[in-house]
Amino acid sequence: MLLYIHVPFCRSRCRYCAFHSVALGKGVQAEHSAAVHSYCRTVLCEMQAWAAHWGKLEVESIFFGGGTPSLLPVQAIGRLVEEAHKLFAVRPEAEISMEANPESLTSKAQACACRAAGINRLSLGVQSMDDAFLRILGRAHRAQDVVQAVSYARQAGISNINLDLMWALPQQSVAHWLHTLRQVLCLQPEHISAYALTLEEGTALAQEVDTGQFTQPDEAAQSAMFLEGAALLAEAGFEHYEISNFARAGFACRHNQGYWQGQDYLGLGPAATSTMAGRRWTNPSNQASWEKAVQAHSLDAAPELLSPLNRVLEMIMLRLRTSRGLPLADYTALTGLDFMASHAKLVTALREHDLICLHKGHLCLTQQGMLLSNSIISSIFEITEQKLRAQGWEEAL
Ligand code: SF4
Repeated sequence: MLLYIHVPFCRSRCRYCAFHSVALGKGVQAEHSAAVHSYCRTVLCEMQAWAAHWGKLEVESIFFGGGTPSLLPVQAIGRLVEEAHKLFAVRPEAEISMEANPESLTSKAQACACRAAGINRLSLGVQSMDDAFLRILGRAHRAQDVVQAVSYARQAGISNINLDLMWALPQQSVAHWLHTLRQVLCLQPEHISAYALTLEEGTALAQEVDTGQFTQPDEAAQSAMFLEGAALLAEAGFEHYEISNFARAGFACRHNQGYWQGQDYLGLGPAATSTMAGRRWTNPSNQASWEKAVQAHSLDAAPELLSPLNRVLEMIMLRLRTSRGLPLADYTALTGLDFMASHAKLVTALREHDLICLHKGHLCLTQQGMLLSNSIISSIFEITEQKLRAQGWEEAL
């Protein structure tokens, strides 16, 4: 099982962000916030309640995500890791990740305390190494803070660092993006995540793009950013192991790999989603409602039951995003069908356009195919649903 702990606090709200998080404001120290204290107490209760319900499950990885987990007092992180060890069978070699924003990792002592609390992988929200873009995004840090935060983490002995980046930013050129990549490579991270910016409706940045104040790079520029960025990282020794993720050998994120392989995950905290034994539920995003539901033991009162059809579609989507691809034998084992035969026309067309390839019994997207992943996956879904429904599989979705 994978354990995810959502920390719903941020220093301030970024201008592109539609995630649920509460801005603490500039002057407020997390240790003095009543909301943070209440969150810490409740998330412990939630963990205890699930352990009582599911028993001492084996935990392969723990991931503190957010929000900005590095805003929490480090004692609270330590207490949660300790409790997880008590309540679950956390594997000795478990990956324990924490997301952090560069401006919130401010000393070697803080980084050492995180390491001592059990954190062995740090994921820094960098987004760009250019202050002009950080200002457009409304990030609270500057490029120099990234350099400093990585240095503190290294001094603390954290030997697995991910740097989270975003491309396709308003006003960004291909050269700007490659410059950011070269800058982060100088910091020698083990892992890089690079997501295209999605403009979420209702955010300040989406409005500014709508009103023409900023312009997003056009399709050709976005394709060049993806392909040239991937080539640069390959040259630097990174494996492109998932559409948006790159790692040095041995440093692929085990927690995310678990998601993509369809393992069960338990999500704690407001807005966290869990999928356990074919049931999926999402916690209330409002802190007060979540706290009430924890006290009432009603978080999974109305779970979504994952139907066999849902599971097949999810497997196709998650596996095709990875460079290993979709194991055709797994598809046959779940459905009793031969994927290549039942999708023959589509597969031929995609292969002719060099969008997919076959490798050791796995169907994989090529790099060009990754650029069009959403439309390729939805075409595959359409045919899969038709074929399975024709076989008498239940209505779903
Ligand atoms: S730090 Fe992350 S979660 Fe918080 S507002 Fe910014 S993007 Fe959103």
